[in-house]
Amino acid sequence: MFRLGLLKVGNGLKMVKNKKDLKSPHRNRSLTGTRPISRIRAKGRNIRVIVRVRPPSNREQGENFSNVLKIVDDSTIVFDPKEENVPFFYHGVQQRYRNLTKRPNKNLQFTFDRVFSHEACNNDVFECTTKELIKTLMNGYNCSAFVYGATGAGKTHTMLGRGDDPGIIFLTMRELFKQKDELSQERHFEIEVTYLEVYNETVKDLLNPGPALELRENGQYGVIVAGIQVHRIDKSEKLFDLLEQGNKNRTQHPTDANEESSRSHAIFQVCLRMKIISTNEIRLAKLSMIDLAGSENGAATGYSGARFTEGVNINKSLLALGNYINGLAHKQRYVPYRDSKLTRLLKDSLGDNCQTVMIANVSPSSLSYEDTYNTLRYAIRVKSIKPNMQKNI
Ligand code: ADP
Ligand code: MG
Repeated sequence: MFRLGLLKVGNGLKMVKNKKDLKSPHRNRSLTGTRPISRIRAKGRNIRVIVRVRPPSNREQGENFSNVLKIVDDSTIVFDPKEENVPFFYHGVQQRYRNLTKRPNKNLQFTFDRVFSHEACNNDVFECTTKELIKTLMNGYNCSAFVYGATGAGKTHTMLGRGDDPGIIFLTMRELFKQKDELSQERHFEIEVTYLEVYNETVKDLLNPGPALELRENGQYGVIVAGIQVHRIDKSEKLFDLLEQGNKNRTQHPTDANEESSRSHAIFQVCLRMKIISTNEIRLAKLSMIDLAGSENGAATGYSGARFTEGVNINKSLLALGNYINGLAHKQRYVPYRDSKLTRLLKDSLGDNCQTVMIANVSPSSLSYEDTYNTLRYAIRVKSIKPNMQKNI
């Protein structure tokens, strides 16, 4: 006999009924008679969703916290595994979660395209995410990669990294330049980059701070940011300075979770112009790499005034992004991209004929219980987008 709790199947969540189910996601088939939803949808999609669990911080290790994540295999993760059965702590955030009196969700199993543990370095993540996008980009399709998660979950670490563990922006650009050099007999390349932020629904150039910039649509180039400074680069080494310079200009405020919490979405865009020498064909493609603002619930952080508005705008734009992706997945006739600057900017980089990878960053700690749960739910919703690539790539 199983002791059944609440069974959740919608959005790919599955309740694990007892300890032995944790061993394999396939076991659930025989128990419920259905296949895990996320497995059915995983075939041939043009969006891949990866989860990365960061190492516990010193504070989390030092305090009496519990681990709320269990990685079952390289694509399956269990949120709040029952077997852990340890006390639940909300250190320092009782105010924020004052309405939660007990552990609200237990033993939820999620299946993603890949799950990385705290042992993974940025290069491991790169190999399974943006490296694959480069081929698509070379074929003339737009691509996007975004990191999602609460403040302190490891988004910026994944994107930018540090000296001994460079982030996926640098690794992707290095690979792009490598492939460009290999193809130099067949193609001429021009590579230009821009770096901007969307803060409170305004777009600003991070490499040339100034007034808010407008978005326009252009038949040839897709969505463009009018007046943004474009940097032509031919070596990945030059990127370090550019990114460092841009990040200094990013809108940040201290929060409970992080001394330097990014309150804006930072978008690094690479425009690739290729001329195939034998045919004179021109191919244009764009890669957008987005470090999203912290996804924690702005309205629940207890802030007021400008900080509250900021949180509301972040939530609105992340919701709009989720809705846009979901609209594409369900082939809605009208997909609501005008709801936020973020979706307007990414309109030509998500969905049909584009390839996208989302990296959901989470903390393993019970301190971030609600944020981790929300991130996993958002990520599984994104995972349901369906394929419609017109060409094989
Ligand atoms: P976010 O951008 O999501 O707010 P950060 O990337 O700034 O979070 O990460 C918060 C802290 O955790 C930083 O000090 C960062 O260096 C550290 N960190 C995050 N992910 C990792 C990781 N995978 N390995 C080592 N340290 C990490
Ligand atoms: Mg950050």
